[in-house]
Amino acid sequence: MKIGILGGGQLGRMLIQEALKYDDEFYTLDPNADCSCANISYFTQGNFNDKQDVIDFGKDKDVVSIEIEHVNVEGLEALENQGVKVIPNSKIIKIIQQKILQKQFYDEFQIPSPNFQIILSREEEIVIGFPFVQKLNTGGYDGKGVQVIKDENDLINMWDEPSVLENLVDIDKELSLIIAKNKRGEIKSFPVTEMVADPKLNLLDFNISPTQISEDIQIQIDKIAQKFMNAANSEGLFAIELFLDKDGKVWVNETAPRLHNSGHQTQEGNANSQFEQVYRVLKNLPLADTSSLGFSGMLNLVGEENFIGTVKYEGLEEVLKLPNTYVHLYGKGDTKPGRKMGHINVLANSREELLEQLISIKSLVKVVS
Ligand code: ADP
Repeated sequence: MKIGILGGGQLGRMLIQEALKYDDEFYTLDPNADCSCANISYFTQGNFNDKQDVIDFGKDKDVVSIEIEHVNVEGLEALENQGVKVIPNSKIIKIIQQKILQKQFYDEFQIPSPNFQIILSREEEIVIGFPFVQKLNTGGYDGKGVQVIKDENDLINMWDEPSVLENLVDIDKELSLIIAKNKRGEIKSFPVTEMVADPKLNLLDFNISPTQISEDIQIQIDKIAQKFMNAANSEGLFAIELFLDKDGKVWVNETAPRLHNSGHQTQEGNANSQFEQVYRVLKNLPLADTSSLGFSGMLNLVGEENFIGTVKYEGLEEVLKLPNTYVHLYGKGDTKPGRKMGHINVLANSREELLEQLISIKSLVKVVS
């Protein structure tokens, strides 16, 4: 089967890596000829934000999917109209692409998500109470395009762009649920994972799975997942990012219609990975067993501040000597501050041991140039 992926980054790379054990052809489209997928797939250099490029790329494929959500949706619609299978469908990608549509979608389907106000410019009257979070409708990623407005004096810092203003949640934990649905209607999720963010870079730092949550919280999450999958009405793999607040209530932060950083530890930590699961979805095969094999965690290898250029990984040999530790690099030649260059997965017998290992590995390895 000819499988086309819009985007040639690390998510696509790890999907292809997993799926090479089967018999399919992978095609990728990315503007960057040095991208993570360029040398491991049939690569087309082009713009996934351009309608014609998307159509030209997808028209002779059996199925087209994405590894980044900021793609040209009209191109995907045209492919659907030509009979090309697009997973997830263009409708849900379009909703998720825009924070405003995404929030209205949660509202419409009674999926709990922080209260919000929509503004098209800074001139509009602010009716939501302080403090609140401003999220740009489009163009934000990895924490960029998100800022907290604390009080009246802070209003001057607001961006003058269409945005969602959202109540600031008093966060106890940030959780993530990865869930998949195939054409036969099977739905399967991975155990809930906990994300620990680096306050400076705002990039996901550690990821721990499974998280320890009460039955009540698990029930809230299951209900959210069920409502989301009904509302989305699409095949695909989705990452639902959640806030658990200090009162024990679960809120949806946002959803990604694709493979997700919070699922990387499934590569060694679960019976099957999120990458295997996407492959199963794209081929409408029985969904894979997602059980945890124990405690697992992940830390991102992110470019250090002040280093730009050909990448060097300091301390990697020390890490490779450790048991139950797995290094994944993304085939990116150049590092820059904050760039995701790879990750390390760790397996452990307890949550405490896992955290200790992750912290010690983080201090061992540095991404420099
Ligand atoms: P991105 O799409 O760039 O990852 P998010 O919407 O996930 O942006 O926001 C980035 C981070 O900002 C979140 O992981 C969380 O820590 C914080 N954040 C976002 N929305 C809220 C909120 N309503 N209340 C409290 N913190 C928030």
